Amino acid sequence: MEAIKSLREPIVCVLGHVDHGKTTLLDDIRGTSIAEKEAGRITQKIGATEISYNILEREIKTAFKNIPIKIPGLLFIDTPGHVAFSNMRSLGGALADIAILVIDVNEGLKPQTIESIDILKKFKTPFIIAANKIDAVPYFVNTSNTSFANAIKMQRREYIEELDNRIYKLISDLYTYGINADRYDRISDFSKTFAIVPVSAKLKIGIADILMVLSGLAQKFLENEIRLTYEKTLGTVIEVKIEESIGITLDTILYQGMLKRGDTIAVNTSNGPARTRVKAILVNSNRGLKESEKVVAAAGIRVLITDKIPVIAGTSMIKIDENTSEDEAFKTIINESKPNIKISEHGVTV
Ligand code: GDP
Repeated sequence: MEAIKSLREPIVCVLGHVDHGKTTLLDDIRGTSIAEKEAGRITQKIGATEISYNILEREIKTAFKNIPIKIPGLLFIDTPGHVAFSNMRSLGGALADIAILVIDVNEGLKPQTIESIDILKKFKTPFIIAANKIDAVPYFVNTSNTSFANAIKMQRREYIEELDNRIYKLISDLYTYGINADRYDRISDFSKTFAIVPVSAKLKIGIADILMVLSGLAQKFLENEIRLTYEKTLGTVIEVKIEESIGITLDTILYQGMLKRGDTIAVNTSNGPARTRVKAILVNSNRGLKESEKVVAAAGIRVLITDKIPVIAGTSMIKIDENTSEDEAFKTIINESKPNIKISEHGVTV
């Protein structure tokens, strides 16, 4: 089935101010992909969570009828909090095809919201706004596990007014940063207006709406970016681990092409470009990590390499021909990298 897919999963990252609900929202989204009996037992994952076509369809169709889904799923990047890589937010913003900017609707724009907007603008990453914590707006009538479209029907007039006031304030504040936004169900032209999706990550309200708007935007406006080709195989290493017993592993977001066991790859190390081989590929499964012979983009993978080399997190990896020289490989890495990385004595910047 994978061999015939023509589009890859759009890569999605979640950005926003601390405590505005990024982790909770990601957990909700991740939860949709876990069988009910396994809920609460979120298994080890590598850098990213895939929401498959079937789950996407199920989640969206339950809330919204007749929405055709053309993408093979969505790949959410998990921002590893423990990584000593100060540019992780930038990296996520640059790597993503589309982003979710989480804003606490009761607090509005905060310093890291503005920083996130700047990152998304810098990399021209399209995004939607999740206006979170709508359950904390006064007069909220308790409900959970439903779409926003459905939840709003159960609310009283006083609540709807309070929520609208907050959304209007958000719209006007975003406008001062050059962002023309509106509530998603009031937008007629999504090419001109940023979508605000009201959600409660805590009560799992609006998750279907988020998935629908992301999918709709991706399949309408990102078709070129997410077309799957096999000419090149490219990824970004987001975490490097040295495991005494097995060697060096690279947690990588593979965003183009196909990677196989035994492939030769070029990577960036603190000693310059290097060539190495793929000894094994591990992927997520419901029961933890499992080995895979080959992987097609987009995917979060753990690559075990054959050489003990100091690969730098945040840099690219690229599949090369066995005969490619290291210099040539490095040139390719620089030209093809997404994001465009710069290596200096201060480390890596994007
Ligand atoms: P992060 O720092 O952006 O990742 O935020 P977290 O997801 O850790 O959430 C910060 C706090 O806000 C936690 O105490 C959450 O329980 C709470 N929170 C997250 N989403 C919601 C929501 O939708 N409603 C309410 N009332 N609280 C929320």
